[in-house]
Amino acid sequence: MIEVMPRPKKRLFLVLIILSLLIAGFSIYGLWKVSFSGLADISHMLPQIFGFLLILLVLAIASGVAGIILAIIGFPTPRIFQGLAWSAINLLFPMAIRVGRLFDIEKETVERSFIEVSNHLVKQKHIQVRPEKLLILIPHCIQEESCPHKITRNVNNCKQCGRCQVGDLIKITNRYQVNLAIVTGGTLARKVVKSLRPQAILAIACERDLTSGIQDVFPLPVIGILNERPFGPCCNTRVDLVKVEETVRNFIINEERNGDRNERA
Ligand code: SF4
Repeated sequence: MIEVMPRPKKRLFLVLIILSLLIAGFSIYGLWKVSFSGLADISHMLPQIFGFLLILLVLAIASGVAGIILAIIGFPTPRIFQGLAWSAINLLFPMAIRVGRLFDIEKETVERSFIEVSNHLVKQKHIQVRPEKLLILIPHCIQEESCPHKITRNVNNCKQCGRCQVGDLIKITNRYQVNLAIVTGGTLARKVVKSLRPQAILAIACERDLTSGIQDVFPLPVIGILNERPFGPCCNTRVDLVKVEETVRNFIINEERNGDRNERA
């Protein structure tokens, strides 16, 4: 069965994250109220000190959410807001998923919207790195199921036979001289990132893996491209190669792009 993925909307994630912020704010207020008398018994100053710290916490999270909204609208956001924005996302994301469930919104839909927001925030920074500092991370399920070659150990074991897109991705990698790794899961992906120490990542995966991966490697900039699953999850998956090549070209520094253009001319 072919999965048709609806176009993700950034505003869904924003609405859910704002609702989550409100819930977190009320919960923190409730926590302060409940602990008030106990703290006052210890010292009459303690409720005020605790309350002040909680207000700082809520303000920091709210600034992070404001940072995300401003960045989406197109306002330049100071670096401090960018850090707070990601902290707010990490804190509020699990709640946003639960709030989404209350409205019958699937987890995958929220994750797709998050990936869209995250990509937007990264693209807005116009990050460009040297080709050797860009890593393309691909899930193992893109390999044709019956292929006997061990490409997770060494991508060059692929014979580029055309039965799956691994060969095409190797061609893109060679054309732009960037790194390519094919991984079987999050642990291996983290290991590759640790050993190659890229400055930017183009990750291809499903909603769940992209969401956790993007949050895991923060502050490394990641552009996430969702895979296509014409045969269902984790089996002979595919990716939009045009999107991959376009993202690689946008990520690597102009000098290299110009060089590539000259080479092609
Ligand atoms: S392109 Fe061919 S050799 Fe390479 S991974 Fe796919 S099926 Fe295997």
